[in-house]
Amino acid sequence: MARMAVFHHAYTVPLARAIHVRAVSVACSGIATVTAPSLNKKKEDPQVLLGMSEQDLQQLALDFGQQSYRGKQLHHLLYKRKVKEIQDFSHLPLAFRNELQDAGWRVGRSPIHKAVTANDGTVKLLVKLEDNRLVETVGIPVKDEKGSIRLTACVSSQVGCPLRCSFCATGKGGFSRNLKRHEIVEQVLAIEELFKHRVTNVVFMGMGEPMLNMKEVLEAHRCLNKDIQIGQRMITISTVGVPNTIKRLASCKLQSTLAISLHAPNQKLREKLVPSAKSYPLDAIMKDCRDYFHETSRRVSFEYTLLAGVNDEVGHAKELAELLHEWGPGYHVNLIPYNPVDGSEYKRPYKKSVCGLHPTFGSFSH
Ligand code: SF4
Repeated sequence: MARMAVFHHAYTVPLARAIHVRAVSVACSGIATVTAPSLNKKKEDPQVLLGMSEQDLQQLALDFGQQSYRGKQLHHLLYKRKVKEIQDFSHLPLAFRNELQDAGWRVGRSPIHKAVTANDGTVKLLVKLEDNRLVETVGIPVKDEKGSIRLTACVSSQVGCPLRCSFCATGKGGFSRNLKRHEIVEQVLAIEELFKHRVTNVVFMGMGEPMLNMKEVLEAHRCLNKDIQIGQRMITISTVGVPNTIKRLASCKLQSTLAISLHAPNQKLREKLVPSAKSYPLDAIMKDCRDYFHETSRRVSFEYTLLAGVNDEVGHAKELAELLHEWGPGYHVNLIPYNPVDGSEYKRPYKKSVCGLHPTFGSFSH
C-alpha cells in the first residue's frame, strides 16, 4: 500500500484548475441497480457498454429486438474477451452491431497516452479520456513466496482532486471532473492488458477523493466484483474523510477495506496537512470508523504518510497509538515514507526515523 501512495504522489500530471465539487449523492441500491438502458436514452446519458451488468445488457439486447442471450454474449465479450470496439464483437450479427453503433453506443475503452515503468516493475499509465483529459493509474506486480503474482491496480476516481492536501501533487493541480464508472473500470482492464495478467487487487488510491464521487465509485466496485470477478475483499476504498460518507459506505455492508488517509495523530496537525479536515473532526472520523468496523466486521486501515520533521517523531507515534487505543480494536496502520515532488515544502524522512517508528506503530495493528 505504501508503494502505491508513493507512486501516486510521484507521478501526478498537470491538471486543469477548474474547481467544482459535486454534491455527494448515493444510495446503496445504486450499487446493484443501474437504470435499464433503452433505445431512447436521453442525450446526456453515456451510451457506454462497459460498466453495465449482465442483466442490463440483456435488457439492452431486448430493447434492440434481439433475444436476451445476446446480452449474455455482450457481457462475455466485454468482460471475458475484453473486446474494445463494437465492430469487433464478431459473435454478434452485423446488423445488431451496426444498430448499436448507429444508436450511439460504444464500448468505453480509451487509448493509453503514456506508460512509465519503474525499476521495480511498477507501471504508471496515463489514460487519455474522451475529452482528452488524462487520468493516471498504476499497476503494481508483487511476487509472493510461492512465485505467483499479485497484481494490484491503483485506480483514480476523479481527474485531479478538489481537496488540496498540502503534500499532494494531485491536490496542487486542482480538480477537473469526476470519472464515470466505465472510466474507473477501464483502468483495471488497461493494467490487465499491459501486464497480460489478471488484476488481483484494486485500491482506490489514485487521483481524486473517491467519497466525492461515491455513486460512480460504487457502480465501478459492483462491476469489478460481479463482472470482472475481483473479490470484494481484494478491493480497498481510500478516503481522507468526507462528512457522512463513511456511514453510507458502512450501510452498503461491502466486504471491502476502508482506508483512511490520516497523516496526523491530532486535529491541529491534521488540519495543516489536510485542509478539508476542518469540516470533519478527528473524533467524528474515529467514531465513524468504529461504526464501520462494527457494521462490516472489516478492519479499517489508517494510512500515515511520514513527512520529515512534521509528523514523524516518536511523540506522534505515541499520540496516534493512544488515539487508536481509545477507539478500540479493528484497525491497521500503514506507514508511508513521503516521496517528494518538485516544488514541495516537505521532505522524505530519514530511514532511521522510519525504522524507529515501525515498532511503535506495528504494535498497534490488530
Ligand atoms: S484527497 Fe488529498 S491526498 Fe488524496 S488526491 Fe486529493 S489532495 Fe491528494
